[in-house]
Amino acid sequence: MTVATEAIAFLDLTALHKPLRHQLDRLWAETLDTSSFIGGDAVSDFEAQWAQYCGVEHAIGVANGTDAIELTLAALAIGPGDEVLVPANTFVATAEAVVTVGATPVFADVDPQTLLITADLIEAAITPRTRAVLVVHLYGQVPDMEAIARVCERHEVLLLEDSAQAHGALAADGRKAGGLGRAGTFSFYPGKNLGALGDGGAVTTNDAELAASIRILANHGRGDHLLHVVSGRNSRLDNLQARCLSIKLAHLDTWNRRRREVHARYRQHLVGTPVQQLTQVTGTQSVHHLEVIRVANRDAVRSYLDERGIGTGIHYARPCHQHPAFERFAPKHPLPVSEFAAISQLSLPMHPMMSDGQVDSVAAQVLRAVEECDANAAP
Ligand SMILES: *Cc1c(COP(=O)(O)O)cnc(C)c1O
Repeated sequence: MTVATEAIAFLDLTALHKPLRHQLDRLWAETLDTSSFIGGDAVSDFEAQWAQYCGVEHAIGVANGTDAIELTLAALAIGPGDEVLVPANTFVATAEAVVTVGATPVFADVDPQTLLITADLIEAAITPRTRAVLVVHLYGQVPDMEAIARVCERHEVLLLEDSAQAHGALAADGRKAGGLGRAGTFSFYPGKNLGALGDGGAVTTNDAELAASIRILANHGRGDHLLHVVSGRNSRLDNLQARCLSIKLAHLDTWNRRRREVHARYRQHLVGTPVQQLTQVTGTQSVHHLEVIRVANRDAVRSYLDERGIGTGIHYARPCHQHPAFERFAPKHPLPVSEFAAISQLSLPMHPMMSDGQVDSVAAQVLRAVEECDANAAP
């Protein structure tokens, strides 16, 4: 067994936080000194910064990215009897939020080149009961939103964006993810491109009424004057997370730029080889949340890399409709692209602190793995 001289982590948050350590230490200390944990200016400050960053009027901080979707759907009065179209190739949270509000997730297949939903696939899956399309900017990439918006307008359905993997990603017209539909939802889970020191999330929108409804729902249904106008719930972004996010937001563009460089370097090594990378949607700018490749003998390639200290992930090992939790919503026909992607996709190490040398080393090992695993698989 050959062991790589240096283990290469799939994601290295310790390295990411190292240059910020002093600021984050001070943040912890100040939080303890002031006992200001919930409901301070820190949250409204971050909300204003995040709205500005995304190019929208309103951002509402919530407890996590799943709540952000759920609260958005609930505030739009989407519930029992309504269908929400979602891609089958996504993290289960997208579909989960739809089920939580009592609506029906309808799974659509994805494009074989980008593994994203497209306007045509949406159009084919829309029914008279469709209330909303929940586009997912998966792996950091925005699909052709102009075409998707046209389909949604034509069928009078709401366009929502699950932007949990796309902080700062640009659509072809230069606008940012989160500002391209009626509302965008974000997760600040630590491993996302902008991550907190725990859970966090936000909804972005230009719709003042929707923003107000989400705020009320997320704060126990409280309107003005201590009056609880609806039965809501508790979904808060806390002050510590908000302040951490403000500190880290100052670095997001630099980090995303480095992710693009890392992707480009992988591309130099892998283009023209049996290792398939995803195609970039024309004119858009991905923030490369994940570096997804597709290979034959995926599991063997993954073990080969693991034995050499190279961390990988699988996003995702099953399309949503093939999890027991969502089987009852499975369409009657197969979703071949999503189903095949699940057995062939592999996520390589990708984070802003990766060195060129690390990228070179991962790419070299991947190519070796593919060669050896192919040879071993040959009859
Ligand atoms: C992470 C993620 C979510 C959920 O966010 P949480 O903060 O973990 O609740 C939703 N959708 C997608 C596509 C995600 O990647």
